Amino acid sequence: MKLRAHNSAFCRACFLFFFQRRVGRAIDHEKMFDRSSRILVAVSGGKDSLALWDVLANEGYQTVGFHLALGIGGYSQRSRERCESFAEKHGLDLRVHSLADEKLAIPDIVSATRRPACSACGTIKRHYFDAAALELGCDVIATGHNLDDEAARLLGNVLHWQLPHLARQRPVLEPTHPRFVRKVKPLFRVTEYEAAIYAFLRGIDYVVDECPNAVGATQLVYKDMLNRLEAESPGSKLTFLQDFLQRAQPVLPAASADGPPQTCTQCGMPAFGDVCGYCRLVREAETKRERRLAAGAA
Ligand code: AMP
Ligand code: ZN
Repeated sequence: MKLRAHNSAFCRACFLFFFQRRVGRAIDHEKMFDRSSRILVAVSGGKDSLALWDVLANEGYQTVGFHLALGIGGYSQRSRERCESFAEKHGLDLRVHSLADEKLAIPDIVSATRRPACSACGTIKRHYFDAAALELGCDVIATGHNLDDEAARLLGNVLHWQLPHLARQRPVLEPTHPRFVRKVKPLFRVTEYEAAIYAFLRGIDYVVDECPNAVGATQLVYKDMLNRLEAESPGSKLTFLQDFLQRAQPVLPAASADGPPQTCTQCGMPAFGDVCGYCRLVREAETKRERRLAAGAA
């Protein structure tokens, strides 16, 4: 394994050690959690989040896996199966919540509201991750966002000078409401490629295909651009993100423009306004669905 960004080459054993140590150092250095924490690991069935769960479980952290079954056809079916077989193989606790059971499958929400799939899906995921952490008594939510994800997000935020988003783009987000828990990204310093190698070497069976809704997403264009930059100048992805976090992020105003959230009058979760984004989305889907049914019947 040759890693040009680190100017190093590794054998199998050394790579596994390198990867685990890099994740472990990010956890300790950023004070993400410790051995007494109960961690909700959001697992999608992809390489990153399963690699993360593998590292945390091997290091003896207390984890509960959480998978949200999104109802996106065969892709979601395969994703769920990968999470379930990983949990079974390693004797780990996995909770699955199925959106289709509540008639909230992503394709249904998208066709009812005509909202962009990724934004609707993001709102729904955030709600269920927060609710699951609360219900399962977890102190922290860990996601598998890697360096490629974070660098691409940074590029997008910089290109559009999204200052409130830049102010919140950190590997650790402290809760701003009593019903929120801390959110962390322990893989923020490892690349997508490194996570894939780790998963492969550890024999983790993961979903290889991208979400069908992500095809053509701008995020993928940014990732591609950063990969081209990385090929010319190894290490630039890491430097871009790291220098932002060390030098630019601290001088951005800490509070987002919205201020701290209130409480949703419908579901009791944090909300900007009376009703949270999730409840607004669900209500919009229901109203529009009923309106179409009524129009169809008339
Ligand atoms: P994505 O937004 O698909 O790039 O995923 C980012 C991270 O969110 C993943 O690494 C997982 O930790 C988490 N995640 C995404 N989709 C799901 C899901 N359906 N269920 C649980 N966690 C998920
Ligand atoms: Zn709500």
